[in-house]
Amino acid sequence: MQGREQSGAPQRPRPGVTGLQPDSLAWAIKTAAGCVTDVVAFGRSLTAVLVDLRRQELPPYAVRAQAIDLIYATLRRFGRGDVELSQLLDRPTAEDELRNLLRVSLCWLEMHPEKAHVGVDQAVEAAATLSGGRYRGFVNAILRRALRERIQLDAAIAANDEAHYQHPAWWLRRLKADWPDDWPAIAAGGNRKPPMGLRVNRLRSDVRIYAQKLADAGMAVAPVMPDAGPDALLLSQPQPADSLPGLAEGDVAVQDLGAQQAALLLDVQPGMRVLDACAAPGGKASHLLECAPIELTAVEVDPERCAALRRALDPARFPADRSINVICADAGRPGATWAKRPFDTILLDAPCSGSGVAGRHPDAKWLRRDEDIPTLARTQRYLLKALWPLLKPGGRLLYGTCSLFAQENGWQIEAFLRAVPDARLVTERRLLPDNCHDGFYYALLEKRPV
Ligand code: SAM
Repeated sequence: MQGREQSGAPQRPRPGVTGLQPDSLAWAIKTAAGCVTDVVAFGRSLTAVLVDLRRQELPPYAVRAQAIDLIYATLRRFGRGDVELSQLLDRPTAEDELRNLLRVSLCWLEMHPEKAHVGVDQAVEAAATLSGGRYRGFVNAILRRALRERIQLDAAIAANDEAHYQHPAWWLRRLKADWPDDWPAIAAGGNRKPPMGLRVNRLRSDVRIYAQKLADAGMAVAPVMPDAGPDALLLSQPQPADSLPGLAEGDVAVQDLGAQQAALLLDVQPGMRVLDACAAPGGKASHLLECAPIELTAVEVDPERCAALRRALDPARFPADRSINVICADAGRPGATWAKRPFDTILLDAPCSGSGVAGRHPDAKWLRRDEDIPTLARTQRYLLKALWPLLKPGGRLLYGTCSLFAQENGWQIEAFLRAVPDARLVTERRLLPDNCHDGFYYALLEKRPV
């Protein structure tokens, strides 16, 4: 999935958070409320909002982490805050910042019921910085009422599907239609903090040696699913990436175990000419380069993301027997320079709704719309159609998304197989989000030899 800025949405100025102790919970609540407003009211992607937040002068790590945790948790609680506010407010307040300060505070109270009085006190402190402090008493009264009326609020949440399952109604409708048995588990998977998967760089280490390094650093690993592949490790507890031993040296990368399935399914061999058609930020491309000495062409349409891709695929990070060609272009318009010879293998990790990674990107629940799905499906179809002629007879193309909607996955591939006689389905894999990995879909296609 890709974050997006809603076009035409008003741009919100980003004042610093003033007047609060930067090591206080009030600071974390106020900061989180500002960021949630950026996503919910101004349509900014969470990724972009967090980049801005990290650029600001920030208080100690623990408070920053608390603010970021609160942002994620509040965005994951889709629908719950709205139901709570509709019960607690006599009339809707038009002020986004105030609504979101209440949303964030209610989330904090739910996460820390044993410290409710601290939460209310600090939320009131944070409210003192809004509109000259005129909402202090109001926030105090609403949060205290929320504590007194918890049972009634929970009953209202239980009666509302969007609040109970924490997903928009249109999203739930699609999950119910596509996954009649599994949809509640999928929704629950999208509401959890995601697992932290690691990919050990087999060129520099292996999972046994690296697991020992983690143990030495006090980090435990959890069991992975049986077909996780030879490079996969799972941390028992997510950790800040920069605390991972050997990260800067390239011994390991943070990569979901579901994403690692792409390289396993492609099974690239020495000397193969490989195209990664939608390659940024380069996680799967790096994995392919670690697996075998291949000739890789990595294409990405977005210039900013392409710059990140170039950094990730810097030839200095890989042995000299790999050839790496990074191209900033629309993969749907194969260029004369990069597509003049056919490929043995193509990875199409298509732009998608991200409905399988909602735990990691909870802003998608707020920013996506039902009508985006057919639009994305059209783009996916366009890319598949344009890339197929670039595959050698006998070659394989892996189509993948981090979505669980059939319109982006099974329907897409069924239609493609009906329309393209020389395409054969080798295997299809659907991964539902669980404690090991995010939700993914893969279809491995083979071009029949002529
Ligand atoms: N494979 C990547 C990885 O593992 O790090 C993730 C790819 S992400 C799901 C999809 C990417 O496709 C985005 O970076 C997006 O900008 C890019 N993209 C979208 N449309 C494209 C197009 N027409 N041509 C090339 N890239 C495109």
